[in-house]
Amino acid sequence: MASAVETEQRTIDPEDERAFLEAIEKWVESEVIPVVMEHDHGDIWPEKLVEQMTEMGLFGATIGTEYGGLGLPATTYAKIIAYISSYWMAITGIVNSHLIMATAVERFGTPEQKAKWLPKFASGEIRGGLALTEPNAGTDLQAIRTVARREGDEYVINGTKTWISNGIQGSCFALLVKTDPKAEPRYKGMSMMIAPKGEGFGVGKKFDKLGYKSIDSAELTFDNYRIPAENLIGMEEGQGFFQATGGLELGRINVAARGVGLAEGALRLATEYAQLRETMGKPISEHQAIQLKLGEMVTRARAARLLTLDAAEAYDRGLRCDMEAGMAKYYASEAAVRNSEEGLRIHGGYGYSKEYDIERYYRDSILMCIGEGTNELQRMIISKQWVKRNPA
Ligand SMILES: Cc1cc2nc3c(=O)[nH]c(=O)nc-3n(C[C@H](O)[C@H](O)[C@H](O)COP(=O)(O)OP(=O)(O)OC[C@H]3O[C@@H](n4cnc5c(N)ncnc54)[C@H](O)[C@@H]3O)c2cc1C
Repeated sequence: MASAVETEQRTIDPEDERAFLEAIEKWVESEVIPVVMEHDHGDIWPEKLVEQMTEMGLFGATIGTEYGGLGLPATTYAKIIAYISSYWMAITGIVNSHLIMATAVERFGTPEQKAKWLPKFASGEIRGGLALTEPNAGTDLQAIRTVARREGDEYVINGTKTWISNGIQGSCFALLVKTDPKAEPRYKGMSMMIAPKGEGFGVGKKFDKLGYKSIDSAELTFDNYRIPAENLIGMEEGQGFFQATGGLELGRINVAARGVGLAEGALRLATEYAQLRETMGKPISEHQAIQLKLGEMVTRARAARLLTLDAAEAYDRGLRCDMEAGMAKYYASEAAVRNSEEGLRIHGGYGYSKEYDIERYYRDSILMCIGEGTNELQRMIISKQWVKRNPA
C-alpha cells in the first residue's frame, strides 16, 4: 500500500552497514559500558558520550546525505539503536527525539526549511526534540491547548508542554500547536512549528523518573513566544496532527528497536548469570524452571527483532507502515518488560541489587510501553488499520 507521503527509498551496502555496526560496537565497549552505572545511578547528563555521538554523525543518522546526514535506512538505524540499547537504552533517546524533529522537517518541510534547518540538525550544531504532550493531553493529542496566533509575519505562542525529552539540553523543538482552536474536527486546527529557544520560551526543572535516567525530561512554557511565520512546517496550517503522527512512524520503529535492545540485553545478562550461578550442585541454567524462562526470553527477543526489521523495511521502501510500526512497538516493548522481569528473577536476590545491571533494564523497559503512543493506543491503531486493510 502506498504511503500518503512520498519518502525516499533507502538502501545500504551490507559491507558498509557491517562496518558501521562494528564501529558502534567498539564505541559501546570502550566508552559506554564503563560509565553506564555511574551515569544512570547519579542521573548525570552524559556529555562526553553526546560529543562522541555527534562526532560519529548519529544526530544526522536518518537525515539525507544532501543535508549532511548519514542517510541511513531505518533498518540500519534500528540495528544501531537496538545494539546500543542492549547496554544502555537511555542514551538512544537523546538521538531519537532529535531525529523525530528532523524527520518532521525532512518529510513535511518546504525546500527552504530543509535547506535552513537540516544541515544544522545533521551536524548536531542544533539538537532538540518533539514537543507534543501537554499536562491535559497525551494520548488525546487533539486536546492540546497551546495556541499559535498569527500576527503579521509572526506567530505568537502561548501554552505549556510537558515530559519533553531533551527539554533542557536541546535548543530547538518541533512544536505542536493549535492555529485554530475552534476547528472541527479538532485535528484540522493543528499545526507544527520549528521552535528554537528564545524570549518567551521557558524551561522547567528536570523530572525525577523511575528509569530513563541521564536524559532530561522537562516542562516547556510559552509566554507570548514569537517565531517567524516561515517556521510553520510545510507553510500550511492544519497539517500538524498528520505531521506529528507521520513522524511518529520512525519514532515507533525506534522505540521498538530500543525494546529489542532491552529484551536482548536482559537475555544476555540472564544467560551469563544462569550458567555461573549454581544451586543443588549444578548451574541454574540446567534447572527446568530456568530453561523455560530462557526459552521464552530468547523467542520473545527474536520475534521482537523480526517484527521491528519488518516495519523498518516497509518504511525504507516508502510503504505505509503505521500498522507494522505499531505492532513492532507494541510487541517489542512488552518483550522488553517481560525479559527484564524474568532476567531479574533469574538473578534471584542479586537482581534486586544496584550492583548488577539487570535492575536498570527493569526500570527502563516499562517506559517503552508508554512513549510514542501507549500500548493501549497502539493496539487500537493496529486493529483499525487491520480492519481498514481487510474490508468485508
Ligand atoms: C520519560 C518520558 C519521556 C517522554 N518524552 C516525550 C517527548 O519527548 N515529547 C512528547 O511530546 N511527549 C513525551 N512523553 C509523553 C508521553 O508521550 C505521554 O506520557 C504518553 O503519550 C501518554 O500520555 P499521558 O501521560 O497524558 O497519559 P493519558 O493519555 O492520560 O493516558 C492514561 C492511561 O489511559 C490510557 N488511555 C488514554 N486514552 C485511552 C483510550 N482512548 N482508550 C484506551 N486507553 C486510553 C493510556 O493508554 C494510559 O494507560 C514522555 C513521557 C515520559 C514518561
